[in-house]
Amino acid sequence: MHVLECGSASSPALVMQHDTFSEHSERDPATGHPRPPRREFKARGSFVERCPGCNLPVLNCLCPYRVTAESQARVWLLSHPLEHHKPTNTGRLIADVLPTTEVFTWYRTAPDDRLLALLEDERYAPFVIFPDDQPDYADRVVGIAAVEDAKEQRRIPVFIILDGTWRQARRIFRKSPYLDGLPVLPLATERLTRYRLRKPASSAHLCTAEVAIELLRQSGDATAAEILDDYFDAFNDSYAASRTYHKLEQPTAAMRRLLAQR
Ligand SMILES: [Zn+2]
Repeated sequence: MHVLECGSASSPALVMQHDTFSEHSERDPATGHPRPPRREFKARGSFVERCPGCNLPVLNCLCPYRVTAESQARVWLLSHPLEHHKPTNTGRLIADVLPTTEVFTWYRTAPDDRLLALLEDERYAPFVIFPDDQPDYADRVVGIAAVEDAKEQRRIPVFIILDGTWRQARRIFRKSPYLDGLPVLPLATERLTRYRLRKPASSAHLCTAEVAIELLRQSGDATAAEILDDYFDAFNDSYAASRTYHKLEQPTAAMRRLLAQR
């Protein structure tokens, strides 16, 4: 059971009123001595300088740890338009590591022509990744062994991951007629989420990159899964540190493994 980009966006709790400081005078009225300049408090994310390469705050840029990998299976992301450009979105990490990844923005009334063409392409064996908790599509549900069957038929297995909140993913699943004929592959895993940038409703709810990691691992792409897992950890640690204006002094264990791959 999984849910995709889970939880809510960043908490507004740290948004600070800049007005508080505007009356701050240059001199202490009691002594007449100059006051030290106050440190400006920055609202979360709003003034942060971001790296154009990885879109993370430059303080802990992710670019040095970017490693690409090869995989037999491919990932196509069908991203909800509200999810697509969020810097905390983890779907883009998959595309960084696996260059064959395709990313499509989902619009209910305007399906992507390129996606429709790819779904017709016999070279691919696409699976919609979605839980098997509703009876009305039970006849389409397959297990991970179906991925192996596709490889034996010399077709390229494709995991179509619906990239959005749980509600958004369900909407994409229900409102996209071109997905209706595809096999549905639920992710069965004991993994608990390690995503730190949004608070999930449950630790069993995995984010999009974690869904891809577990699918790759279970379907025989262990090396690609490990690299993506390390890159995901590096992303989490870099981003979380930048949120508290803290520069990571040493690469983490996952970062060191990635550096060794380059
Ligand atoms: Zn960067």
